[in-house]
Amino acid sequence: MAVTVFGTSDPLEPSELETASVRYPRPSKLRAELSLEGARARRAAETLGLATVDDLLLHLPRDRREARAVAELVPGDNATVVVQVRSISSRSVRRRGMRPLVEATVADDSGAMTATFFNQPWLEQRYPVGTRLALHGKFEGRKGRRAVGGADANFLVQAHARTSDAVGGEGTVAHYPATEGLTSTQILALVSEHRAALAEVVEPLPAALRARERLPDRASALAEAHFGESSAGIQAARRRLAFDELLLAQLALRRRRLRRRALSSAPVLDHERDLTARWLSSMLPFSLTGDQGRALEAIDQDLARPQPMQRLLMGEVGSGKTVVALHAMLRAVEHGYQAALMAPTETLAEQHFGTLQTLMPGSLVPCGLLTGSTPARRRADLLGKLSSGELPLIVGTHALIEPGVRFARLGVAVVDEQHRFGVRQRAALDAKSSDPTHPDSDPSDPSDPADPGRPHVLHMTATPIPRTLALATYGDLDFTFLRELPAGRRPIETFVCSTSGERERAYERIREELRAGRQAFVVCPLVSESELLQARAATAEFERLRTGELRDFRVALLHGQMAAGAKQAAMSTFAAREADVLVATSVIEVGIDVPNATVMLVEDADRYGISQLHQLRGRIGRGQHESICLLFGSKDSARLRALASSTDGFKLAEIDLELRGEGELVGTRQHGEAQFRVAELPRDADLLELARTYAEDLVAVDPELAAPEHALLAHGLVAAFGAEALAPIPA
Ligand code: ADP
Ligand code: MG
Repeated sequence: MAVTVFGTSDPLEPSELETASVRYPRPSKLRAELSLEGARARRAAETLGLATVDDLLLHLPRDRREARAVAELVPGDNATVVVQVRSISSRSVRRRGMRPLVEATVADDSGAMTATFFNQPWLEQRYPVGTRLALHGKFEGRKGRRAVGGADANFLVQAHARTSDAVGGEGTVAHYPATEGLTSTQILALVSEHRAALAEVVEPLPAALRARERLPDRASALAEAHFGESSAGIQAARRRLAFDELLLAQLALRRRRLRRRALSSAPVLDHERDLTARWLSSMLPFSLTGDQGRALEAIDQDLARPQPMQRLLMGEVGSGKTVVALHAMLRAVEHGYQAALMAPTETLAEQHFGTLQTLMPGSLVPCGLLTGSTPARRRADLLGKLSSGELPLIVGTHALIEPGVRFARLGVAVVDEQHRFGVRQRAALDAKSSDPTHPDSDPSDPSDPADPGRPHVLHMTATPIPRTLALATYGDLDFTFLRELPAGRRPIETFVCSTSGERERAYERIREELRAGRQAFVVCPLVSESELLQARAATAEFERLRTGELRDFRVALLHGQMAAGAKQAAMSTFAAREADVLVATSVIEVGIDVPNATVMLVEDADRYGISQLHQLRGRIGRGQHESICLLFGSKDSARLRALASSTDGFKLAEIDLELRGEGELVGTRQHGEAQFRVAELPRDADLLELARTYAEDLVAVDPELAAPEHALLAHGLVAAFGAEALAPIPA
């Protein structure tokens, strides 16, 4: 019998009632691990992130395919049919050893055909006579009156069920994002198999919210998304499921933010002291940009409060983030605290270390460098000085948060480039970076007596991301953007060249620059994923240019297949102006700083993504001369037009996201920022906004999600982000 609970109008079965009352649900059908036959299929499932039945049900079809009538098929067609099994048998065939073969006679109203399945002997049992199947594959032809469906795993089982509704609408079949080893067809079969688990799906959203936003209930939304027939219904279902994901993420972020605020143990760094003032007024070798000035003000306000700063500083390479970071660190030092800057790689740590030296002429404050390759004696010396407090400033890699590293009084921690991590990983990193002082203390427990106080944390990233993505991913942080380039940096002019005349003029323009003593990059087409083919293309272009258009100049070559030493030599040759032109693959994206290079030519630019081209282009425009970027490609390309019209990485990131369009498999997933299965940004930006507002309001009235009507949200939060997502917020 169904009963009404929690003041909602949702009838829940008694068993669900039980689930609703516990915060950590016991294992259920939904939580069961997917069992798959074959190692290849298991690997594929892992690639697709399908570990449990729950994951599977959230793996939604990308679109639907029209089913065709068997009688209509023409040899060579790639088609989907919805049929019933008439007979099925297995045998082995001699083909590179004995391969098991299952042959089924299947039919729809229009006719019959043979479907052949290799290497799936278990199908004989699984699809007894009468089973309805959706099959997708290549149609091979007819033998006599009977059609023959694909040899060698061409016609694969798509779904099976005894009734028509389980394979989707009569005329269409769901098409899933798939990968090698696990086809869309097999995924649909799995989903159909686990359809019964939908009965265990509980409704996490309070009824009032669902009514207000007209959201279908979760179980129906899942059923509709997989098996529905109307596109409006499927769309509504998808939005509902996307909303759930966004809401949980926003709840987690919001709670984390409040929790951090409540940990009121960061040092108050509030007065103007001599050190920072002296540095700003007389030691900094340039004056700050407006954006930098505003960033310093925001940070000063954060540091003057006893709640630990949690600010994200976003600015592209060269926008001057290090100055801002140094200011925050000097603030700590002048108040008698230490400061640390942590970077993800040794190279970056070394670069930061170098930049800090130039920003503090005459070594204003002693600063150390600690990485994995710091020699043991040097390391021991540094650790000693950190724990005694003698060393005020340190730059390093993750070596800084290893156990054994102790600070006497860490006041400010700067963490560079966290953008590659998702919400969950960031939480883990945070737990470390929020309290590197005492690795033995439990940073999640504010009452821990070993907790000496938390540092203020400044996160930095050079990857411009649109605001919607920033909110979805870093909603627990305060943001500061550095969009303005430091004075003296010349904006880059970008042209799209399509015709042969434009190509001619482009080379002429390059020769002019070279004659004036400048240098040029030529970036070769992205021919394939294969490094080897890339390298060949670059080598060919190198040969062509140095005997052709650029024969009067010194041309060097750089590609990913060269030995490390040869790469290094090519880069140094170019940096030392011993070469005028560097012909390269996109390996130059990282790590080249040659201010004298003022031209970049990109072949087949349409093959690169917006952000990649923007990164590439960042190799020029670094000196006092004007720079130009020549993109060879179609004038119709929206991406190339975007690049020609703007050099603002944040704006380009927005355009990039817009252009990716709806339903594309790549999209936000490729960015690596959004960790959603269903939600897609910016398409779901309105849902994100709704989720954010709702999460804020909810946490304001019920921070611990303790009210009965929030119990299932609380449980969803734990399921998605772990128990720490529900850690209490101290009053
Ligand atoms: P980011 O870390 O954002 O890539 P950096 O802080 O390393 O950028 O700064 C890049 C370069 O620009 C450095 O050489 C720095 O000294 C210089 N720079 C930073 N701010 C300014 C400014 N306001 N005016 C002139 N040069 C600046
Ligand atoms: Mg930098």
